[in-house]
Amino acid sequence: MNQIAVIGAGTMGRSIGYTAAIHGFSVRIYDVHEVALTRAKTANIELAEKSATREFITDEQKVYVEQNIVYEPNLERAVKGADIVIEAVLEEMELKVNVFKQLDELTDEQTILATNTSTLSPTEIGAATTRSDRVVAMHFFNPVHRMKLIEIVRGLDTSDETVERVQKLGRQLGKETVEVREFPGFVTSRMNCLIGNEAMNMYMEGVASAEDIDKAIKLGLNHPMGPLELADLVGLDSRLRNMNYLYETLGEKYRPCPILAQYVKAGRLGRKSGKGFYEYS
Ligand code: NAD
Repeated sequence: MNQIAVIGAGTMGRSIGYTAAIHGFSVRIYDVHEVALTRAKTANIELAEKSATREFITDEQKVYVEQNIVYEPNLERAVKGADIVIEAVLEEMELKVNVFKQLDELTDEQTILATNTSTLSPTEIGAATTRSDRVVAMHFFNPVHRMKLIEIVRGLDTSDETVERVQKLGRQLGKETVEVREFPGFVTSRMNCLIGNEAMNMYMEGVASAEDIDKAIKLGLNHPMGPLELADLVGLDSRLRNMNYLYETLGEKYRPCPILAQYVKAGRLGRKSGKGFYEYS
């Protein structure tokens, strides 16, 4: 694979694009909102400069980020000639189905269509296309350039060849992969949502401060990040969507903590809005 198209230039789309570029791929990123493309470009160039200064990437890789990513406001041009399209729009089935219907029409029939969904069914997404054997979930983690894993989730019809090709792509991006049978929340989101929700319930019950809950989990259980700071990083709106889906599909154990819903109503979305369980300047 040489040419990667990414749909959605938010937290994940831009980060997937950055990671593909530093590994030598030619990347086009599309978003319905032009302002998201402008923001993604600025963020990626700033990250490349900082990373090159600190010698996390080479100067050559910095140039790849500057030159090999096209921020494309036209969907047809963005996906033309792509070997794989990786979708990273909001976590809503109806939206993803619409995007995949368009991708199915606009891309060559050999093109693999991957979704970066955290919880949703690649089978249902694939059913909206005429190539469900070439639809797969590639679940990346935030920030993509630092996180080692891609969870590869097979839908009912996903072919062995498709899985092998995305595993190979994962290796070319410097990642480890795990193969997961489709089930709501896969392995990581299901586990992570539950831990995060329990931390939110403890916080709401006044068991400890946010800082002390996170400190206890980091130092006592050896997690690299506390569950509340991680939820802030993911985005509380995204987390609430994931929790609601797991609650609908897997039941009571996944009922979202009321404080999560309340924070989202108030616009406290975590890092991206400047305030969540913590405040960010
Ligand atoms: P985000 O809100 O930061 O970005 C979503 C982007 O999609 C926005 O820029 C929006 O303008 C764009 N968009 C909306 N509709 C579109 C359309 N029809 N076509 C093109 N672009 C469109 O969201 P995110 O956090 O990047 O999440 C994206 C996906 O990745 C979700 O499925 C989410 O569950 C998954 N995911 C998120 C994380 C995380 O930590 N945030 C981690 C793994 C997976």
